[in-house]
This record gives sequence, structure tokens and C-alpha cells, in this order.
Amino acid sequence: MKDIIRNCFSRILDLIYPNLCLHCFSKLEKNYFYFCKDCLYDFSYLYTKKARSTFAVFENKGSIKTLLKELQRQKILSITKIVASFIVIQLFRLNWPMPDIVYPISNLLKKDHLSKEVSILLKKPLRKKQDLSKIALIVLDVIDIEKVSKMKKQLLFKKVYVMGLCFDVFFDDLDLFL
Ligand SMILES: [Zn+2]
Repeated sequence: MKDIIRNCFSRILDLIYPNLCLHCFSKLEKNYFYFCKDCLYDFSYLYTKKARSTFAVFENKGSIKTLLKELQRQKILSITKIVASFIVIQLFRLNWPMPDIVYPISNLLKKDHLSKEVSILLKKPLRKKQDLSKIALIVLDVIDIEKVSKMKKQLLFKKVYVMGLCFDVFFDDLDLFL
């Protein structure tokens, strides 16, 4: 009887929270959340030897595109926290200096949840104020390189670093742009 109840319960849970991969919709194995084992292969950190102050965490392909879509839809709250963690890990991997502030570039109508989560993780203030004595970090979902380099030139900071979840172009084309 207990087993029947448990089975029923797990079936109901499956209906409410279908445990499917967000990208390929296959059923998730135990201990996997949001993405299945195969789709997690797309989660490999981009690497650069060059000193860059604009960079991304992943290449915009496969399940990363799905992650980006979910981040923009803001239906699953923890997705923002997960992406913020990836961004912070990438900052450390690239040995970027610790910023003094996280500078939100969004306007008032669109809340910048991602910048906020990164500022919490880094324990640095989220501040919409320019200051020539400070290093600023800008956090984006997608990096449009042309837009970002224009924006960087207009900002008054000691140095501006920009980290995004991915670039809007393929990583192989990057050298044409950066
Ligand atoms: Zn999958």
C-alpha cells in the first residue's frame, strides 16, 4: 500500500514538475537538474590566453542557447543564480581583478536580476554611479561586441570589465571582432 501511494505521489510530482531536460526533453536521471548528461557537454568554459576585458562563459550553441532563453524568460528563478555562479567562476578562471562595483546597464523598466546575483556572490555593491577611481564589472546575458566596445568608451571608470553568458557571434569568429 505504501509503495502504491509513493508511486502515485511520484507520478503526480512528475506531472507538476516534469523532470525533463530543458534542451532535449529527455527524462532526467537521478541527481540531474534542468539538463541531462549529454546536454551538459555544451557547458565547457571558454578559454583565452590573451588579456581581454570583454569575455563570455560559454559558446552560444546547443544547450547554452536554451539556458540563455530560460534566463531571459525568468520563469525558473534559480536559473539566474546558476548563471551568476558560472559568471563568477569564469572571472576567477580568467584571473580578472576583483571589481570594486558591479555596474548595471539596464534601465529602470527592466530589472537586472543577473547583475544583482553576481554582486551578491562577489559581495560587491551593485551601483549605478560612475567613478574614475573604481574598477567596474558589467554583467550581460549576451555580449554584442560592437555595442559593448562603444559603451565601454563612454563610461568613466578606472577600468571596465564585461562578462556575459555568451557572445552573439560564434567563438571562432571572435578574433575578427575583438
Ligand atoms: Zn538533454
